[in-house]
Parts: sequence; C-alpha cells; structure tokens
Amino acid sequence: MRHITLRLTDQQLELVTASLGADEAPDAPALVRLALRETADGVIRRAHPRTTGQPWQWWDGIDAADETTILQQTVLEAGTGKAFEVRAGQVLRVEQVTGDQCVDLNVFNLHDYREFMHVGRTRTLHGTNPSAGSFLWSAPPRERALMYLQTDTAGINDTLFPRCSANMYESIHGFAEHTNCADIQAEAQREYGLTPDDVHDSFNLFMATRVVDGMPEILRQSTAPGDHVELLALVDVLAVPNVCGNDIMGTSNFSLNPVRVSVQTATRQEIAAVPPLRSYATQRTPADFRQSEIRTERRLAKDPDYQPAFARTPVRLVDLPVELDETDVLRLKALHDRERYADEGDALRDVLLSWWVASHG
Ligand SMILES: [Zn+2]
Repeated sequence: MRHITLRLTDQQLELVTASLGADEAPDAPALVRLALRETADGVIRRAHPRTTGQPWQWWDGIDAADETTILQQTVLEAGTGKAFEVRAGQVLRVEQVTGDQCVDLNVFNLHDYREFMHVGRTRTLHGTNPSAGSFLWSAPPRERALMYLQTDTAGINDTLFPRCSANMYESIHGFAEHTNCADIQAEAQREYGLTPDDVHDSFNLFMATRVVDGMPEILRQSTAPGDHVELLALVDVLAVPNVCGNDIMGTSNFSLNPVRVSVQTATRQEIAAVPPLRSYATQRTPADFRQSEIRTERRLAKDPDYQPAFARTPVRLVDLPVELDETDVLRLKALHDRERYADEGDALRDVLLSWWVASHG
C-alpha cells in the first residue's frame, strides 16, 4: 500500500462531493482510484453528465404565427448603418443587394445597453467563423444568448477582426477621412444616445477570414444578390448593422455596396427550431452588482472606503489522503508527468480533475 495525499482547493473538493452524492463511488479515495484506473486503461466514460441551471423558456409570452410578417425594411446605402429595435421573437434579416458586401454588427440589450454582444465568448463557443446554428452571447457577468443565427446562405461570418476605424485608414494609407465601421456604428448608435465609446467589437457578416500561422487573414468573398443572414432575437435588442467602409482591402472585393435590412416576426416553426437553452443564477443583472451605478465622471478616483470582497477568498486547501495498492501505484507511475509535477499527490490531482472534466462534460 502507498499513502498519497492530494491537496485540493475546497472548490475542487465540491466536484468530489457531487460525484459521491451521485453514487459514482462509495468514498473520496475510491473515486480517486476510479479516476486513476479509467485514465490508465484509456476508458474514460462520459457516464456522469451533470445537469446545471434551469430550462430557459425565453419564448414565454411570444405569440408567433405560421407566417412571417415584415415589420420594417430598409436599404442601407454604402457608407451608412442603422440601429433597429428587434424584440424577442423577431428576426433581423440582412440581405445582399448586389453581392460582395461585408456588414459589421453590434448588438445591445434594448433595456440595458451595458449588456452587449461579446464576440470573445461567441468565438470560443462557435469558432472563428460562426454560421447557422450558432448563438450571439453577451459578456460576463450577464453571459447569455442574445440572438440565434437561424439562417446563413453564404456561410461566411467572422469573429477575428475588430471593426475598421478612421485611424486604421490614416495610419496605413494616410487618409484624412475614410468611411469606416467604427465611425459609421457611432453615427448610427447616436440615434439612441450612445457615444463612440459604446461601439463594441463587431460580429462581421459576410466576411471571409482564416488563420494562417497564428495570424488572422482576410479573403475575398463570394456572396450573390439574395444571400442573407437571419438572426432571431431571444431578448429585446438594439441591433446595429452597417455597411463596412473598407474599399481598399479584399473584405468586400474592393467595393462598397448597399444591403437590405428587414425586421420581421419569427414563425412558430422558427422559434421551435432554436436549440434548448438553460438559465443560471450566475447570469447576473445590475440588481446583483455591488457597484450598480453607471459612472458619469470620466476621471477615475480611488474610493477611500473600499474594502475588497473577492468571492471564496482566502482560498481554502483540503488534504485528501488516498491509499493505492501495487497495481494502482504502477498506473500512477505510468501517468506521472515528472517535468510538471515533482510530487505524486500533485500528479494524482491532475489525473483526478482531468478525468472529472472528461467524464462529466
Ligand atoms: Zn469595416
């Protein structure tokens, strides 16, 4: 028998406790040995999925019909953009008129503009080029799906590039003034009282990109008249599409073209086709914030009464003693990454937690 001690944080111990509560093992050391055996034998079973949160019935109160109704339709001319109110259960449709046109998009919660689309989370969950079947997510601490990408006939959208800006065109080519997404967004958002600082990272519709040697790269695009993207709102949003101002890169095949934008009702079938979502207590709203007032003073000043209140600190460590028999000792020896872990307990903790994530994902 070999006695090994795993040092866990109390948060890590919660995972162990949850597994014991689900009868995955009779006690904590037995769970560690189970993790070790399944990992060493290469048979990690995804046998213990955890269900967290509650079903999110975002469609409650939406009275959808079998046919769609167009509520608003506009042609965005080259060099322009516009803010559209898209209520939950309505669809924003962006359609090519002549083809070849990239369109940048910003999205805000209509009732709380500080909640807005987070391209980073969207990229992490749906990849660098999200297409039909993806969601547009908001940033932590809100972190929920704002819109569902239900239709995408061209299949080229981008999350790698930030909006183009006036400074980009001046610094690269010396333009004193040039159509650019940052300023077009700001001008369109001004209709709702937002400032240029409120323009956030864009989801770039009809923008063909890829990563080469770790660097993002723009490709010429191939969209035809009638190609379109449809985004179904799950909450009331302000959606701001704009015709990308870039005519000196391949983004829109060296052209500036109009696009057609519609707001229309989602059909019953479209709402039913949205994959199920769950809601979580950690999707916090301003009512949950310790600091919920929005600053209006630009200069930052220290609060003399500030007391830090970080969650779950100081971090608590807990020792978990485990006994391993000869066979298990050999299993751990085979798995022990000595370059990373001098201590057997640290190596076994890695085995336990890697196993836990793999088998409960
Ligand atoms: Zn642009």
